[in-house]
Amino acid sequence: MTAATSPLDHVTAGIAHAARLAGREPAAVTLIAVSKTHDAETIRPLLDAGQRVFGENRVQEAAAKWPALRDAYPGVALHLIGQLQSNKADEAVALFDAIHAVDRPSLVEALGKAMAKAGRRPDCFLQVNIGAEEQKGGCAIADLPALLDQARAAGLPVAGLMCIPPAEVEPAPYFALLARLAREAGLEGLSMGMSSDYETAVTLGATHVRVGSALFGARGDKA
Ligand SMILES: *Cc1c(COP(=O)(O)O)cnc(C)c1O
Repeated sequence: MTAATSPLDHVTAGIAHAARLAGREPAAVTLIAVSKTHDAETIRPLLDAGQRVFGENRVQEAAAKWPALRDAYPGVALHLIGQLQSNKADEAVALFDAIHAVDRPSLVEALGKAMAKAGRRPDCFLQVNIGAEEQKGGCAIADLPALLDQARAAGLPVAGLMCIPPAEVEPAPYFALLARLAREAGLEGLSMGMSSDYETAVTLGATHVRVGSALFGARGDKA
């Protein structure tokens, strides 16, 4: 990497390299630039460089930030990557093109109703609590088949599975497990991999990587 290489170029090259190592096409991997906590001025250079897929973890924050940016930069796709409360389902369906943390029956029901009302159906990823961690979101592995059935019955377009592996341990076994669960469920999409491990995730089949700090620098908080 030369001094002139931007973080975006660096991450894009890392994804392409990992994809080729795994015999995959780089174009099969979507880079979601996670812009949570960052303001429009910080996001604009990425938009100017051609990045069009962004991730936010709060409905309110995205609603405040993105309408103006979307007017200025056609073709933006917004992914909601954070936990969603059922009472914000209508707003989320109106604002986002994909929703990554669908993890419980009450939320599936709320999203099904919101989509029917809005006539708009963002792609959904079912979040799996892949490390069976008490404090983490995501459905238990054992509950995944039932949640998938329910999501399909409710008319949610289920694009794939999503996970956040346990912190500070080797993530590869968790990525491989999520890939196997997706294969068994007949799902193509795999939303996995963040700044510290997106290359590993791509070698194990990620179709969507969610990268924040490697693109924007460290966030000031723990969002
Ligand atoms: C913040 C966040 C990311 C990005 O994290 P980085 O380590 O900054 O790349 C990815 N996924 C989720 C669900 C997040 O909340």
